[in-house]
Amino acid sequence: MVQFDTTYDADRLDEIRRAEEESLLKQLAAQYGLQYINLPGITISPEALMTIPEEEARGAMAAAFERNRKKLNLAIRNPNRPETKALISKLEQAGFTITLYLTATADLEHAWQRYEDQKHTVAVKRGVLDINPDVIDSLMQSFKDQEDVREHITNIRTVNSARRVSETLESIFAGALALRASDVHIEPEDTNIRLRYRLDGVLHDIIDLERGIYERLISRLKLLAGMRLNVTDEAQDGRFSFTIGEQAVEVRASDIPGAAGESMVMRLLDPSIASFKFANLGLNDVMKNVMLEELARPNGLIVTTGPTGSGKTTALYAFLQQVHTSDRKIITIEDPVEYKLDDIVQTQVSDDYTFASGLRAVLRQDPDVIMVGEIRDREVAETALHAAQTGHLVFSTLHTNSAVGAFPRLIDLGVDSRTMGSSVNIVLGQRLVRKLCEHCKENYSASEEETKSIERALHGHPKPPPMQKPYTLYRAMGCNHCNETGFKGRQGIYEAVRMDPQVEEAVIRDPREHVIAEAAAHQAIPTMVHDGIEKVLNGVTSLPELERVVDISNQRREIKTETAAEGEVDIADHIV
Ligand SMILES: [Zn+2]
Repeated sequence: MVQFDTTYDADRLDEIRRAEEESLLKQLAAQYGLQYINLPGITISPEALMTIPEEEARGAMAAAFERNRKKLNLAIRNPNRPETKALISKLEQAGFTITLYLTATADLEHAWQRYEDQKHTVAVKRGVLDINPDVIDSLMQSFKDQEDVREHITNIRTVNSARRVSETLESIFAGALALRASDVHIEPEDTNIRLRYRLDGVLHDIIDLERGIYERLISRLKLLAGMRLNVTDEAQDGRFSFTIGEQAVEVRASDIPGAAGESMVMRLLDPSIASFKFANLGLNDVMKNVMLEELARPNGLIVTTGPTGSGKTTALYAFLQQVHTSDRKIITIEDPVEYKLDDIVQTQVSDDYTFASGLRAVLRQDPDVIMVGEIRDREVAETALHAAQTGHLVFSTLHTNSAVGAFPRLIDLGVDSRTMGSSVNIVLGQRLVRKLCEHCKENYSASEEETKSIERALHGHPKPPPMQKPYTLYRAMGCNHCNETGFKGRQGIYEAVRMDPQVEEAVIRDPREHVIAEAAAHQAIPTMVHDGIEKVLNGVTSLPELERVVDISNQRREIKTETAAEGEVDIADHIV
């Protein structure tokens, strides 16, 4: 059934305006000697985005989308705007090296909408709740055991009591996360306030908190959890969440009255633990079977690709867990070690323990399985490929936009294309899309335009899903389960290229992406776009969300955003 509505016409107009603006911008970019960028086609780094406050970014018609320490990639609409110039010089004074890109107004709007995702973090940072996730993050790194947490809390010397409460809470959460506590208990007794963590199912006494801050501490937690502050004689439930890096930690709080005061129990829902399971990666059936076959092989290289924040680390952790058996020795080299995995030797790179030297050292430890965080240079590439050829199963990541892009990238790094056939087993490509909130997502019939894009995007799908028109799609609404965002958690979309005689031949003869893609077509593995569209049709995510992450109009995506070839770390790069 065709539906006419005004939004459809408005969308169409927007599209025409957008196309005109885009072609104008491409000309302008050439004149200014700048690059043009299509922001919806890339993953915007929250860290980069948050470098500039939303108001300032909007005022200056700018959005930061990629950041590597003090290097910042900034998308702007017009380099001559005074506000834009002011922002650039302010950033430069703050020590940033800026690369400018021209972009369309609609693209900027798209980037600014990402501030919404960070809303909670910002609210926390602005002092509403006055708990700083960055502090929690860095404390987490420094806490190794209960004693560290105890010592840190004992040594809080801040006199200002509000700040003292914040620091105590930051330490409590950091400790709980670092030690992977499932619950935090704050229990007042006659003379002291007990802080206990439940670790692997067992309660452990951590420290006695000061009586002097107890009331403020409980009030702050009640506020945070949305409980009524003035109610102290009834049981109350609440919840809140905060974001550490890209990880959302969800807390369910329960408050009950007691003889010595209210006692608070908080359950921490750590999504990262569950997400390291192979079954939770969200692989489609084809990919699942392919990966299970590949993971069963005794040697060879398995590479996953994607920009920062595309879930590569999560995928590798899940693969490690999958191949983990007691008779296999598994060693990782990471930068940094993000999560401690049981029974796996994890090492972290440092100034004198690089990926390259680490890999050589690790090989002397007689491992069966190795994970090297990222292939960044020729030495690492060659050592990893050599290890893969000599009886080791090797996992790693490459910073490319698609699975096929890994082959030319390895060649650029100096790898001999003739060695790849005997060392590379499979290359994956991946991105993360936000999952629609199950509580509030709403179905609707696809518009004519949406129907067309879906059919276009499914073109070339080796085994298209059964579909009936009008297609049912789902849209993000927003409720109190999802902080009014309409989304909750994220899931990967995937593609892969396996090594076989056809692919090997193409890699040696002509390693351009489309040539390799053609050579691999007979493998009948859906592309990332195919996989994404299927997840849209299954109601996992929305069409606009998929479009935010990948360009669905162009199955053969050009590399347009490859910015960080070296020095990039997947910070908390995992599914939540
Ligand atoms: Zn919701």
